Amino acid sequence: MNCPVCGKEMEQGTCRFYHGRAGDRRLAWVPLDFKGIMTKGRIEQSGGVVTPVHSTIFDNEEQISYCCKDCGKIVIDVR
Ligand SMILES: [Zn+2]
Repeated sequence: MNCPVCGKEMEQGTCRFYHGRAGDRRLAWVPLDFKGIMTKGRIEQSGGVVTPVHSTIFDNEEQISYCCKDCGKIVIDVR
């Protein structure tokens, strides 16, 4: 999928729940091949992103989403 904002190829991945220190709970996006513990370091090392979006529930390994790191956009199917 191409980014609707800049037109570049977006990366495939999934939106996940990131639970950091001191109750820091946020929406993260990780590449499809990400496995294991969701630490900020591991997420960023894999090419993923911990977003500033507060989230307590979004965690779905099967729902594919697309990320454009140039624009900082995530595209998710809603059905
Ligand atoms: Zn873009």
